[in-house]
Amino acid sequence: MKLDILAIGAHPDDVELGCGATLAKEVANGKKVGIIDLTRGELGTRGTAETRDEEAANAAEILGVHTRENMCFADGFFVNDKDHQIELIKMIRHYRPEIIICNAVDDRHIDHPKGSQLVSDACFLSGLKKIETVYKAEGQKQEPWRPKTIYHYIQWKDLEPDVVVDVTGYMDAKEAAVLAYKTQFFDPQSKEPETPISSKNFTDSINYRARNLGRLIGVEHAEGYTVERYVAVESLFDLK
Ligand SMILES: [Zn+2]
Repeated sequence: MKLDILAIGAHPDDVELGCGATLAKEVANGKKVGIIDLTRGELGTRGTAETRDEEAANAAEILGVHTRENMCFADGFFVNDKDHQIELIKMIRHYRPEIIICNAVDDRHIDHPKGSQLVSDACFLSGLKKIETVYKAEGQKQEPWRPKTIYHYIQWKDLEPDVVVDVTGYMDAKEAAVLAYKTQFFDPQSKEPETPISSKNFTDSINYRARNLGRLIGVEHAEGYTVERYVAVESLFDLK
């Protein structure tokens, strides 16, 4: 299956929090969208790898994405090396996305910038034809593929975005997809330990941060991204 957008996160729920509304909007616009989680989030304080598998599947259904896979890399300990890059190159060449969206370039959780750099490096290497790969059991040598653009969503830290997407009308889908991770977020009934993302303030921040970015560009809600190269336009009139 060829995808228009492949969104990648170190942990299940990174993508929902980082770019859930953008994905829901692009799906509604008829784009083919997929998600890859690098790990199963097995080191998360709350819930288990199994509960998060189930929550991730529910969230994918809410966003309407066409596929979701898990690389099963080691939560907390995966590294940006040849083995991990090759596994990701196989996925990039299989799905041939025009756009990759991935983790924040700088953040509180060490897996976020690490995942960000790993994905970025894999995107570059995926375009080199002398790196030979075979996808799963298909047995056929894959063709090189390099996505046109990489966008990095913004996570815990308030980074300055380079590109801001109007996601007005898609916040309900985003919030429902995030809250599909029932074990992770605010739940006054939960007996599990508090974490930085289980507070009511964190859950509320999903909406107020989007509203604030929206305010700054004159719309209801927005999601922001950083990019690795200049934003290029055909004409100065292209910007919203
Ligand atoms: Zn994460």
